[in-house]
Amino acid sequence: MKQAEELLQRYYGFPSFRSGQRQVIESILTGYNTLGIMPTGGGKSICYQIPALMFPGVSVVVSPLISLMKDQVDGLHQLGVPATYINSSLTLREIDQRIRKTLEGKYKLLYIAPERLESDRFHAIFETLPVYLVTIDEAHCISQWGHDFRPSYRSMAQMIRQLPRKPIIAALTATATPEVREDIATLLGISGKNIYATKLQRENLSFAVRHEENKREFIQNYLAVHQGQTGIVYCSTRKEVDQLHQFLTARGFATAAYHAGMSDEERSRAQEKFSYDQIQTIIATNAFGMGIDKSNVRFVIHYNLPKNLESYYQEAGRAGRDGEESECILLFSPQDVYTQKFLIENSGLGPERKRHELSKLQAMQNYCHTEQCLQNSIIGYFGDHETNPCGKCSNCRRLTEEEEIDITIEAQKIFSCIKRMKEKFGLSTVSKVLKGSRSKRLLEWGLDRIPTYGIMNEHTEKEIYQLCQMLLAEGYLAIKLTDQSLPVAKLTARAVEVLKGERRVSRLRKIHKDLPAQSDAQNDLFEQLKAIRLKLSQQEQIPPYIIFHDSTLKE
Ligand code: ADP
Ligand code: MG
Ligand code: ZN
Repeated sequence: MKQAEELLQRYYGFPSFRSGQRQVIESILTGYNTLGIMPTGGGKSICYQIPALMFPGVSVVVSPLISLMKDQVDGLHQLGVPATYINSSLTLREIDQRIRKTLEGKYKLLYIAPERLESDRFHAIFETLPVYLVTIDEAHCISQWGHDFRPSYRSMAQMIRQLPRKPIIAALTATATPEVREDIATLLGISGKNIYATKLQRENLSFAVRHEENKREFIQNYLAVHQGQTGIVYCSTRKEVDQLHQFLTARGFATAAYHAGMSDEERSRAQEKFSYDQIQTIIATNAFGMGIDKSNVRFVIHYNLPKNLESYYQEAGRAGRDGEESECILLFSPQDVYTQKFLIENSGLGPERKRHELSKLQAMQNYCHTEQCLQNSIIGYFGDHETNPCGKCSNCRRLTEEEEIDITIEAQKIFSCIKRMKEKFGLSTVSKVLKGSRSKRLLEWGLDRIPTYGIMNEHTEKEIYQLCQMLLAEGYLAIKLTDQSLPVAKLTARAVEVLKGERRVSRLRKIHKDLPAQSDAQNDLFEQLKAIRLKLSQQEQIPPYIIFHDSTLKE
């Protein structure tokens, strides 16, 4: 490790390893197949580059993106390390040349796209040269359960493990849920003790979810207030990128657009302007970002809902790589949920994968509705231990003054209704039944005849739906998909406890400290609940039909 430290100082000019880097490097140098999980910007490159400098021969690095490879190789050249890459951006002659030079032992690191490993020319490298180390960067691409599955990653994994001279395998990723970790470890033969995950928490980032009516206006105001700061605004479609870019340009903001529908030239121009601080804000689809190492990004705003938390954390994580305080804001609108659902439905994926994608989308929605610390909510999703609330996310910040209100009765009404509807309907239908809606379909289905029909008619349908969403986000409800991929609400064990009267549900009223005291829907709901509570306290008992007495509850 002493030599590794010397290399860190000599080549990179850094005084010491960051948390996690040391363990991963030590494990690789000892000869173990190793998995390192570190947040974006955590310093994964050094984890394999330093061992590569220490091992004899060439080290192979599998990387999913052409731009990523070029950046890495350029970076290594600047440090004086001989390295090269092979991918489809090169001519056959260039590829031949680079393979020849590799065979002559001219490089310490060779970056390749996963498909290339299948070619015979490549096997020659493995047969001729000592390849001690094969690194799989962005290793989550190997797993079907990851957010960016690539079949070629999977076949490549098999090929590497079948090599006669077994190289050490180093796998690195920023985002891996427990199931993805397990998948990577199994496919690459990594034992549990050689998996290192650094804290996923990024202490310099403050997260916010905002339910803005006018998102354009929000961006305009935000940019006006944060003039001189660098940031990224992610939109989910090219059209939206172009429209927002035009809107802001017309109002005098120097922004650039970036998406896959632009020519290579236009895109590199936009990227350059951004890299060299000629413009402050880039409006982009998720095509922008991987491999961009701009350290002073002060904010990342998501104009639309990303399709899952993996993508969200990766994109938001491009803020604050330099360790300075930075903001990650997600603008939520229900419309975006439908867009993402539509994209999944029409993605051409098989039914199982579709269901999986939809459940990830549900987790993304839960993030937008939770009342928990947002940073904790994210790291909990990735299977990390939750810590103290961060104190600066929008949920933590708004909680300056708390007022608690008991909503056990509402929860019981909702749960018993779901139960009476045999857990076969989605939350919007459930809300309609509770409201006592005269919708034609409800009547056709005979839902107006169940005992819970209309028992919450003192609320608006929207309020009931909001309460359902909150109960979902807090884990009382779960959404399952039917064989036809229709979402239906199910009760969890916690909800059953509530129905049995063994658990109470409460809701905190949050007083917005730093936001203008506008009457938002959540506050209205709270007032409404308070009024009802007052009325109820003057009556005696809750009507007995609300609590569901059923043998299924007495397990
Ligand atoms: P990742 O691949 O995990 O997203 P990178 O390997 O690109 O992250 O590193 C992110 C940034 O952190 C780079 O600018 C890199 O130079 C810097 N960095 C990495 N390790 C250290 C270290 N030990 N000390 C200081 N800076 C570091
Ligand atoms: Mg990286
Ligand atoms: Zn928080």
